[in-house]
Amino acid sequence: MALVLILAAVLWGIGMAMGAPIRVRIVMLAVLWAAVVLLHLVLPDGNALRTATGGQAAPWLIFGALAGLVLLYREGLRWLRRRAVPTAAPAKPQGTFSEVELNRYARHIVLREVGGKGQKRLKNAKVLVIGAGGLGSPALLYLAAAGVGTIGVIDDDEVDNSNLQRQVIHPDAAIGMPKVFSAQKAMEAQNPFVQVRPYHRRLTPELASEMFAEYDLILDGTDNFTTRYLVNEAAVSSGKPLISGALSQWEGQISVFEPAQSGPCYQCVFPQAPAAGLAPSCAEAGVIGPLPGVIGTMMAVEAIKLITGAGAPLRGEMLIYDALWGETRKIALKKRSDCPVCGETA
Ligand code: ZN
Repeated sequence: MALVLILAAVLWGIGMAMGAPIRVRIVMLAVLWAAVVLLHLVLPDGNALRTATGGQAAPWLIFGALAGLVLLYREGLRWLRRRAVPTAAPAKPQGTFSEVELNRYARHIVLREVGGKGQKRLKNAKVLVIGAGGLGSPALLYLAAAGVGTIGVIDDDEVDNSNLQRQVIHPDAAIGMPKVFSAQKAMEAQNPFVQVRPYHRRLTPELASEMFAEYDLILDGTDNFTTRYLVNEAAVSSGKPLISGALSQWEGQISVFEPAQSGPCYQCVFPQAPAAGLAPSCAEAGVIGPLPGVIGTMMAVEAIKLITGAGAPLRGEMLIYDALWGETRKIALKKRSDCPVCGETA
């Protein structure tokens, strides 16, 4: 009996040392068991080998049957485990974050001025960006990355080869594609946890008042005065804060207009469009590529500040960045009582 047990232990040990899987080792023991049983069945009674291995076949047969039952039970359990369907994760309640989102926004959440509360405000916020061009490119990407829950973008233009020197949201492969769809693709690729609403059309006064009502905050990154005045009027009449950025060659400027809170509106500062030729567009005058990146990113920062309540937004102030000389300055902006949009007579 002891002989068989020692042999079994040695076989098991060799199997382990060779790294044989447990299944193979069990088969080895089964072969040993079968050999012992065979000895008892084949050899005559009183044979030395039979005496050394217990003398009778019956105990071995009972042992084998028990071992077989144990193995069968083990296999049965495994089969049941494989069949068990993993229970679906419970649906997460709205307005809360998944583990992946918490991890994604961890660097925001540790900021005292943002925290979990601010991140939740970002998720619930709806921001509309006018123009998916130079200023819109970084603004849209950073708003999406920051986890602004709903981002609308309106632009009637298509991606042109000459845009790509600065409009980094659009890849070369998107040339000819409507900018809003190219921007949507980039934002969704950056952060699948935000909802993007593209509007491939030109902004009209009717559309503006209808659309602005659905959003908490407007970012204006357009390059023409007609649209700027239109956006300002709609923002003032709907009481929505307007973050406005502008560029020319090497200089950029940014301001937050919210006359409902305090300070002027866009038209207070720029009462009328400059005469044709005095304010040339980017196409006419040129613009250094990273400049819209700087100002557009600042627009996203101001948006996050307004949504979370962090710090002091550039309300009633204009920040001017002169890239050529590496200088920034801030000027105070005044409300005009005779402003046709936000003034007393408006
Ligand atoms: Zn005004």
